Order: sequence, then C-alpha cells, then structure tokens
Amino acid sequence: MVICKTAAILENTLKKYYTNNINIGFVPTMGALHNGHIALIEESKQQCAITVASIFVNPTQFNDKNDFEKYPITIENDIFLLEKAGCDIIFLPSVNEIYSDGIDNLKHYELSYLEEILEGKYRKGHFQGVCNVVERLLLMVKPTILFLGQKDYQQCMVVSKLVELMNWQNKLKLVIVPTIREENGLAMSSRNRRLTEEERTKAAAIYNNLLYMKNNFERLPFNGLIKRAEEELLKNGFLKIDYISICNAQNLQPIAEYKEGVKLVVLIAAFIGEVRLIDNLLL
Ligand code: AMP
Repeated sequence: MVICKTAAILENTLKKYYTNNINIGFVPTMGALHNGHIALIEESKQQCAITVASIFVNPTQFNDKNDFEKYPITIENDIFLLEKAGCDIIFLPSVNEIYSDGIDNLKHYELSYLEEILEGKYRKGHFQGVCNVVERLLLMVKPTILFLGQKDYQQCMVVSKLVELMNWQNKLKLVIVPTIREENGLAMSSRNRRLTEEERTKAAAIYNNLLYMKNNFERLPFNGLIKRAEEELLKNGFLKIDYISICNAQNLQPIAEYKEGVKLVVLIAAFIGEVRLIDNLLL
C-alpha cells in the first residue's frame, strides 16, 4: 500500500494506470474508519483493479465549529485497517494541498432544492463544502468509479448532481453501498465514538423506528408514524430532532401519504447528547 501526501505524488503513482483502461476505484473518507468505510473499500476491490482511499477532514463542510474540533482522528488505526482491507493507495492531503487557493473564496454549486431541505436546511453551507472537496479530490484522483455510502443518502444525490455539473457523467460511475450497522442496528459512524455506552444502546432507537416505519407505511398514516417515531426518540434520550421525513426516494420531495408505485425513503437526523446522528431506510 502506498501513502501519498500530495497530488503530485498521487498523480505519479497513478499515471501508469490511466493509460491502461482499467477501473480505478475511489473511496473518499474523513478517517476514523469503521466497517462501513471498509465495506466501500471491499466493494471497490470487487469492481476495480486499483483502489484509492482518501482521508481528509474537510474544514469547509462543517457548519458547526464544535463538530469540526471534536471530529475523531485515528490515523494510525485507519492506515492499519486500509492495509488489512487490501486498499492500494491512500491519499492523505493537508488542507493546503486541497485548498491551495485558501478556503475563503469557494466555488458555488447550483444545487437548488437539494440543499434547501433536510441536511441542507439544518447544516447551512454543508453541501457546498462537500462539492468543493469532492470536485477537487476527483480532479486529483481521476477515478473511474466513485464509491459512496447510502448512510449519507442526500450526499449521494448531491454528489450525483456534482458529477453532472462537472460534466463527468460519461467518465465516472457512482456506486452506492448499503449502510453497515452495529449489532443493535445503529448505523456505523465516526461520530459514534463520541457516544457513551448508554447512548450507543439508546441510539438504536433510530433504526428501530425506521424499521417500524418500513413495516407499517402501507397501512398507517405517515403523520402518525412520524409522531410516534419522534416520541420514541425523545423517550430514548434523544434531546433534539432535526427531522423525521418520508420522501420520494428519487428527488427527496416530502410525501404526505402512501401511494402505490412511488419509491420512498425515510430519513432521520437527531441529537443524542451533543452528537448529531443521521440515518435512513428505503421503504
Ligand atoms: P465519512 O468518513 O463519514 O465522510 O464517510 C465516507 C464514506 O463512507 C461516505 O460515502 C459515507 O456515506 C460512507 N459511510 C459512512 N458510514 C457508513 C456506513 N455505516 N455504512 C456504509 N457507508 C458508510
């Protein structure tokens, strides 16, 4: 496994592969790796001759300074896990390497509705930061397949839009990997490291409610399902709920009632202690 800290070294390491018409898989991460990230690496290994993972805690996508400052960093363990998973190349850039022009004059991406709802509404500017870093990383890695986790459902849609805005639809394929969970159903997340044992146990209420909604959305009214989920989360120690929303899975428009043939997704964002967790389930 090769570790590249600059785009120049990365380019030099990858250049022999660009000409050979082979798949280069790319898994961008912010580190503090867990089995969810490793599932993406494994999927890339299945589909690509070369797998590149990046670890970069992107300062421009944090709307909350406290969240950025407390973001877990476990770089030695990350390298160990990536090596064990058979990752070929790690890209480990500094902030200056990614933002050589500074972070004050970022590009603006036309995401319209996609950044006005759900995560976009509660984390102002978050998806602009995501697009800025992902475009820069894509231009540096030049992969053929990009692997993303369904855990960040809206982010997958934003990145798909970014690929369109970059006009890369014909040279980059997106693969969405299903969410990997703890035994109790809690979606794996780097932020779970900040939960106490008790909070981890209680946080399973998110998945239990997603499942309840999946099992009942055809027979119970949506507003009742959402109200029940809100009450259950608050009963289980969640302090604040940003949203529980049933949406059209294609475009994230909120849907008020069941209609056959419309593919739905339910999405939740809520705080337990001071940690904000998100999750979703296709219905
Ligand atoms: P992050 O390090 O949180 O930026 O995540 C890097 C990538 O891993 C993103 O595409 C995430 O959607 C994905 N990911 C994070 N958690 C999970 C999970 N539990 N299961 C599957 N993919 C995940």
